[in-house]
Amino acid sequence: MHYDYLIVGAGLFGAVFAQQAREKGKKVLVLDRRNHIGGNVYTEQVEGINVHKYGAHIFHTNNKVVWDYVNTFATFNRFTNSPVANYKGEIYSLPFNMYTFNKMWGVVTPQEAADRIARQRQEITGEPQNLEEQAISLVGRDIFEKLIKGYTEKQWGRDCKDLPAFIIKRLPVRYTYDNNYFNALYQGIPIGGYTKLVNNLLEGIEVRLGVDYLKHRDEYENIADKIVYTGPVDEFFDYKLGTLEYRSVRFENELLDMPSFQGNAAVNYTDRETPWTRIIEHKWFEFGKDANGNDLPKTVISREYSSEWTPGDEPYYPVNDEKNSALYAKYKAETAKLTNVIFGGRLGTYSYYDMDVTVDMALQAAATEFAGNNAY
Ligand code: UDP
Repeated sequence: MHYDYLIVGAGLFGAVFAQQAREKGKKVLVLDRRNHIGGNVYTEQVEGINVHKYGAHIFHTNNKVVWDYVNTFATFNRFTNSPVANYKGEIYSLPFNMYTFNKMWGVVTPQEAADRIARQRQEITGEPQNLEEQAISLVGRDIFEKLIKGYTEKQWGRDCKDLPAFIIKRLPVRYTYDNNYFNALYQGIPIGGYTKLVNNLLEGIEVRLGVDYLKHRDEYENIADKIVYTGPVDEFFDYKLGTLEYRSVRFENELLDMPSFQGNAAVNYTDRETPWTRIIEHKWFEFGKDANGNDLPKTVISREYSSEWTPGDEPYYPVNDEKNSALYAKYKAETAKLTNVIFGGRLGTYSYYDMDVTVDMALQAAATEFAGNNAY
């Protein structure tokens, strides 16, 4: 059997591209080296709770086309991400907003908060050159020390001075009493879990699980006219230019015989000493209810530990510092030479994409591919 497209990776990019290709009447084969679909958005049911096996995923976007698209494959609930920060037992609201400023300094009005931050940001002169300078310039030193420094250094395993400023710009800073972590117009979690969403995307498409394309190149390389590759870009080229660095994450999951462990989906541990970065309590992504709307008696929590990626680990985050960005640029030049391979997703393009951007890029890649077919 010959295919039009071989899609390597059944994560969001691969699944969206596959769906679009099938809609255009293309013959598609999807491979994934894991034994399940969904990539890192995969969810698994435990005691009626959809457990985000590879960490919390909250869909949020300003892109109406993307939102409408995902809503044709799943119904989204009204979950709003409002993580809580725990700094040595002191509880702060996230993202940085008037509740945070009030708890930190006792200020009540936006003007008082702005004055306080303006005084603290004076230590940064000129354009912020790294994450530490960017953070202090946004929210001042007190918040940097208690809510950013420890968490960031645990998450990235690097000093805040050695990290790019853009990472912290992902977080909103608000002079209003608003604990919504995202500025996006649309936000929610697919009811029934992400696996259901991806399953719907892949409906009617041949999927082979537990197959590592890179280990079976001989068998698969010529099986299709084109390949969509969503695995690590450096691994595709057998690391010939060097290895890119990734951050990996490890989870310790626990099923607890209690209705609530922490009363919130996400609690970030922002001090340096606590070994985990955050604890996720999965039931709160769906308001503590099962599929029939009944309260769940038990709960599943996951402690998240961040680590440097080594071969054999799951890569999660690209490390977009100067060294790695320069190396990726070289790999990117290699990818451009291959006219029959499309590289996509976080790993295929070594980019810290949110889910909506990933969906958007897959729709765009498909539109380019099927130009004239009005795919997007
Ligand atoms: N961050 C922080 N303190 C927090 C939460 C986030 O300093 O309590 C910083 C940290 O540097 C992190 C970045 O903000 O890498 C982006 O956080 P986000 O929650 O967007 O990361 P993700 O959920 O993608 O891991």
